[in-house]
Amino acid sequence: MGSAFLCVREVKLVSSGPLGPVYESLKTGVTLPNLVDLPDLLSEVSTGFDQTTDAPVYETEPREQLSAGSEFDADIVVIGSGPAGYVGAIRAAQLGARVIVVEKGDVGGVCLNVGCIPTKALLACVSVVDQVRTAKSFGVEVKTFDLNLGAMMAHKERVVKQLTSGVEMLFRKNKIQLIRGKARIVDPHTVAVDTETGTQKLTARFILTCTGSRPARLPVPGLEFGDRVWSSTEALSFSCIPQKILAIGAGAIGLEAGYTFARLGSDVLVVEMMSQILPASDAETARTLQNALERAGMRFKLNSIVVRAEDVGSRKKVWIKSEEGEETDEFDVVLVAVGRTPALADIGLDEVGVKHDGRKILVNEHMQTNIPSIYAAGDCIGEPMLAHVAWTESKVAVEHAFGLNSRMSYKAVPACVYTTPECASVGLTEEKARERYRDVRIGRYSFSHNGKALAIGESEGFIKFVTDGKYGQILGVHMVGPHVTDLIAQATLAIRNELTIDEVIETIHPHPTLSEVAQEAAMDARGRAIHK
Ligand SMILES: Cc1cc2nc3c(=O)[nH]c(=O)nc-3n(C[C@H](O)[C@H](O)[C@H](O)COP(=O)(O)OP(=O)(O)OC[C@H]3O[C@@H](n4cnc5c(N)ncnc54)[C@H](O)[C@@H]3O)c2cc1C
Repeated sequence: MGSAFLCVREVKLVSSGPLGPVYESLKTGVTLPNLVDLPDLLSEVSTGFDQTTDAPVYETEPREQLSAGSEFDADIVVIGSGPAGYVGAIRAAQLGARVIVVEKGDVGGVCLNVGCIPTKALLACVSVVDQVRTAKSFGVEVKTFDLNLGAMMAHKERVVKQLTSGVEMLFRKNKIQLIRGKARIVDPHTVAVDTETGTQKLTARFILTCTGSRPARLPVPGLEFGDRVWSSTEALSFSCIPQKILAIGAGAIGLEAGYTFARLGSDVLVVEMMSQILPASDAETARTLQNALERAGMRFKLNSIVVRAEDVGSRKKVWIKSEEGEETDEFDVVLVAVGRTPALADIGLDEVGVKHDGRKILVNEHMQTNIPSIYAAGDCIGEPMLAHVAWTESKVAVEHAFGLNSRMSYKAVPACVYTTPECASVGLTEEKARERYRDVRIGRYSFSHNGKALAIGESEGFIKFVTDGKYGQILGVHMVGPHVTDLIAQATLAIRNELTIDEVIETIHPHPTLSEVAQEAAMDARGRAIHK
């Protein structure tokens, strides 16, 4: 793929429309990336944004000459093919780079194989079970039904396979070379890969480290991972439903797994050391979700920690400590869901001098490490460890490497939990907003007044806007209810673009939809909800 790549140079917008930069570049004789055609170019222009200031960014220098015949094997070697790695690789290829991806495990990383996707596939199975259970109230009599765990796992595996082979297809389409093996950085431009046939050295102008994370362990005696102590990975591949489960940690992973087992018939207790589930989230939203999950059969113990565990016959006896004292109980399975640890071991960070703090790789706003040719993105650079954050970071990394001055902003990062009801939030919690702003106004509206929610029989929950009282700027949006994980994108767009509550109010929302709840909640913040 021999080609010169020159970035657009000091382009002034001559038209406010998307063609402005193109016209101007033609006028000034600036060479545009010659591998892309017009639609690609437009998308490149529109994605070259400074995420902090929101200003369009156009490079002032042709940064790099990407070409065949350079002294490097590739323009960029990406380590890892999870959401950070595969998206970064494709974005780099779009920018004209010759890309090699090295993957030691399954293509697609945690997200596609043992994370986001399989959890949602199993939750979808559980949702069908719930629908069957409530079918009678919709006039559908289901006399008997059986759970077929094997078929549920097959559904999950089909979805995973379709997506992971889709990623491999995208690699082929974008002429990205995939090498299977374990990569280690040996100098700022070289990666050594241990493959089945030996060690191969790859040189590249840039290296993007996307090694992801692994389940965090609890340093508690008796809670080493094994047959009866599961991480989220084992909770996705089970051949029988445990009767009684203890989930340690009430974050998204603990709640989603706990909910899955509870709806499949397990007795599920969730122990959380903090005073609320989803500890970083809006307190009212967390309380509402907890109440709903308790009605769905889950039990919770907050402000509590597990201090010890022991095998007793085929079960685990567990000691749980809280302000009220210590109690014991026995469980068939203990699920440790206390977060994830960035994968930093054995990738050559210390040998090459890439700075890290022992927990995560340290990067600047361009995702660049202290060594300019080495970038890092995704879970390996720490929280927030989410797939959509991972790929946004890796896009920023490669765009910066290849000449677009992209910067990462964490101003509007949506976080979702896919239980029933779902939970989703973005921006400041009410508590944080009150700490930072003198005048905070809340708008809230319940799904129980919404026609679509009542029609589908899922009217639990609400949407809540946290706004600045003076200007009405939207500071945070928190949702519990049906399909709110799909509704949160609208709120993310609003916060990212610093919209006010009035702009939501003035936007026509279709009827009857769940999105009307957002508009009513916005109107409530101005004291004029129509249906309240
Ligand atoms: C149960 C569960 C549910 C989740 N649900 C969600 C969700 O609903 N939404 C969401 O946004 N996030 C979710 N996440 C988090 C999400 O999966 C991660 O944030 C995301 O996968 C991070 O992407 P990544 O590319 O940084 O790392 P990973 O997906 O971990 O990928 C890293 C890849 O690098 C490879 N690798 C590591 N070291 C090397 C090496 N030395 N050489 C070669 N290859 C290497 C690994 O094999 C792996 O394939 C969930 C996680 C879990 C565990």
